[in-house]
Amino acid sequence: MPLVAMRQVLDEAAKGGYGVGAFNVNNMEQIQAIMEAARATKSPVIIQASRGARAYSQDRFLVHLMLAAVELYPEIPVVMHLDHGNSVATCKSAIEQGFTSVMMDGSLTEDGKTPSTFEYNVKVTREVVELAHAKGVTVEGEIGTLGGVEDGHGAGVSGLAHVTDPDQAVEFVKQTGLDALAIAIGTSHGAYKFTSKPTGETLKMNVLIEIHKRLPNVHLVMHGSSSVPKELQDVINQYGGKLKPTWGVPVEEIQLGIKNGVRKINVDTDNRLAMTGAIRKVFAESPEKFDPRDYNKPAREAMQKVVAQRMTQFGQAGHAGDYQPIALSEMAKRYR
Ligand SMILES: [Zn+2]
Repeated sequence: MPLVAMRQVLDEAAKGGYGVGAFNVNNMEQIQAIMEAARATKSPVIIQASRGARAYSQDRFLVHLMLAAVELYPEIPVVMHLDHGNSVATCKSAIEQGFTSVMMDGSLTEDGKTPSTFEYNVKVTREVVELAHAKGVTVEGEIGTLGGVEDGHGAGVSGLAHVTDPDQAVEFVKQTGLDALAIAIGTSHGAYKFTSKPTGETLKMNVLIEIHKRLPNVHLVMHGSSSVPKELQDVINQYGGKLKPTWGVPVEEIQLGIKNGVRKINVDTDNRLAMTGAIRKVFAESPEKFDPRDYNKPAREAMQKVVAQRMTQFGQAGHAGDYQPIALSEMAKRYR
């Protein structure tokens, strides 16, 4: 199966009433972990790379690893998505590299740190929609500002500083014509999302539900949605790590989101925690070992386990074989 457009995967998810996890990658082991989890659970997958990941892997390494994934797992629909593009030029270069979906995050200016204006956001997102849709590539935009910083991207504000305004969300979708909309409802990037288990005061699921009511046909995206489970934190700290106590987004809140229009759920921190914990364990228990495979293999297995669990919890498990891929050229025609 060739790489598929994210629009098709999300349209199918909407039909089936499930969500699809979008997992970040930087290297081969992470891509393998996702693909093995997808095969085991028969799930369609969204694999995403941030600007930081593209720089780390010089782009081409990542692109060829993705092509290997498609070749080795022909039964799995795979989306290759750019996470948090900071400019029209970044999105354009991703499309040229072969990404089948891009995020234009115009909620921040090009420095990836400063909250922008609504007008700026509409302008850059609209521009990306025009050039992406001409090639059948999907576009995700963001309105409101997520909390925290990850990979050097983010305003570093509290998750509640710029919660999405539902009226603005409606206007933004109308003016840009995008495919998927990331909204800010109190979540943050990174490991430190909440200082205690989130409540309706800190995680605004009511805002999400309101936006879905107004935009029932728009695919919503939850960013910063790792659950940061205590058991993954514990493994790291048990073997010499120093994580401070922290809380993520509970899976049951994500499942409530999925019932209310959420089709894409971004997860990165949970996988980072799982891999790091597994590596620390090997180092602590077998200090005589020095073959990278001795720790990369358990790290890969630990990530695979988390990803498979999320795929089952989000409901995408069992849906890999539901549909045939639509060619990007055909997607482009449909946008016209
Ligand atoms: Zn994000």
